[in-house]
Amino acid sequence: LPEYAFIGRSNVGKSSLINMLTQRSKLAMTSSTPGKTLLINHFLVNKEWYLVDLPGYGYAQRGKKMMDKIKKMIEDYVLTREQMTCLFVLVDSRLSPQNNDLKFIEWLGENGIPFAIIFTKADKQSTSKTNRNVELYLKTLQEQWEELPPYFISSSEKKTGRDEILNYIESVNRSLSSQISD
Ligand code: GDP
Repeated sequence: LPEYAFIGRSNVGKSSLINMLTQRSKLAMTSSTPGKTLLINHFLVNKEWYLVDLPGYGYAQRGKKMMDKIKKMIEDYVLTREQMTCLFVLVDSRLSPQNNDLKFIEWLGENGIPFAIIFTKADKQSTSKTNRNVELYLKTLQEQWEELPPYFISSSEKKTGRDEILNYIESVNRSLSSQISD
């Protein structure tokens, strides 16, 4: 089955987003403690696809050894997992483009990994501020990329962005299964 993975810096709102997408709070616990997710967790959704929760990256307080271990775990999964269909990179919609996120995205591009961006916590500021930040982000990406990745704006608080993300996943799943039957 196809896998859709979610990644982002600790505290970006990944657990909350996963809860919103699955609507099953027992699948993923929210916590305000940064860096709680350590291992790679798979959740089967509607028996159709796997939601894969990757550990947060860039959490320096964990110490170098742990960071290296997590980095290697993420790289192994992203580079070698055949079922990995799209990697959703979460970024905080309140922040200007962060260097480590941009570097990670660049690395994805260099390795031909399919990805999309989710701008999180959109409710924390006005819509116009969110849109300005998103524009700035896309403009920064455009300096490096000819084509922009798919992107979504979400709020786990206001439950927005959910349908768009799930529709996208379903449409990719549909195109995958039509390829197989062709
Ligand atoms: P993770 O470390 O990336 O899994 O982040 P969490 O999902 O645990 O969220 C970190 C903090 O941000 C928690 O206090 C959440 O309640 C809060 N948070 C997450 N998503 C949203 C959101 O969409 N809106 C608001 N206002 N707060 C959020």
